[in-house]
Amino acid sequence: MTSTSLGPIGPIDSHCHIQSLPEDLQEAALDGARERGVRGFLVPAIRLDQSEELLELCHRHDDVWCSLGVHPHDASSWREGEEKRLTELLADPKAVAVGECGLDFHYDNSPRDVQERVMRTQWELATELGLPVVVHNRDSNGRMLEVIRDPRFADLQADFHSFAGGKEMAEELIAHGCYLGFTGMITFNRADNVREVIPILPLDRDLVETDTPYLAPVPHRGKRNLPEYVVEITERLATERGEAYEETCRRTTENFFRLFEKARPAG
Ligand SMILES: [Zn+2]
Repeated sequence: MTSTSLGPIGPIDSHCHIQSLPEDLQEAALDGARERGVRGFLVPAIRLDQSEELLELCHRHDDVWCSLGVHPHDASSWREGEEKRLTELLADPKAVAVGECGLDFHYDNSPRDVQERVMRTQWELATELGLPVVVHNRDSNGRMLEVIRDPRFADLQADFHSFAGGKEMAEELIAHGCYLGFTGMITFNRADNVREVIPILPLDRDLVETDTPYLAPVPHRGKRNLPEYVVEITERLATERGEAYEETCRRTTENFFRLFEKARPAG
C-alpha cells in the first residue's frame, strides 16, 4: 500500500473515472494530483463487471475509494437478481457508495423505463444497506423528482454529481438533504446555470469533482481531464463562495466524509 504524500492542503476529487484513463496514466494521474495537495479520490463504477478492477485499485491506495453500481447508459446490462452480487461487492470496506446510477434522457443509451427500474433497484439497495448513492442526472429533472419524492426514498443519502440542473431542481434536492457536486463546468463562461445554485446551497452540501476524463476545467478545457484539476475547480468554488481556498478544501472534505461515511481519511 502506498501512503499519501503530504503536499499542500487540497480538496478531495469526489468523482473521477480513473479506470477510463489509459492504463499507463492511471497511477501517474493519482500521483500528479497528490503533488498538488489532492487528499482523496472517489472512483465511480459504470458497470458491475468493473467492480473487481476498481476494488483492486482502491486496495492499492489508502486515499482511493469507489462506488459500485450501474450507470444509466449501461442500465440494459443489468441482469435480473444482480442485487445479490452487488450486495456482496458492497461489503468491501473500500466500496463506500452505490452508483453511479441515475437517468440520462439526453443520450438515451438505455431505454428510459429500464434506466428508471435499474436506478430504483440500486436506490432501494442503498437504503437497505445504509449507503449513499452517486447520482447521474441529465435532461431528466422531471422524472428524477418524481422518483425522489417516492416516500420509500425519504432517507436516501445522495450526491447529485456534476450538477447542472438549475435553481429549482437544486432547491428541491437541498430540501431532500442531497449534496451537489461541482465539476469543471463551474469555470465555463456560459455556465451561469451551474453557478447560480451556489448562493442557495448550504455550506455543508457542496462537493468538488473532476468527472475525469471528461469536462476539463478552464484553462484545460477540451483536453483530457485529470484529477489534479480539482484544484482549479475548488479555487473557482472558493471565489464564488467568497472563501479562502483552504477553507473551501477543508469544508468540502468534511462534507465528503460526512456523506461517504464508510471512507476514512488517509494517513
Ligand atoms: Zn461519472
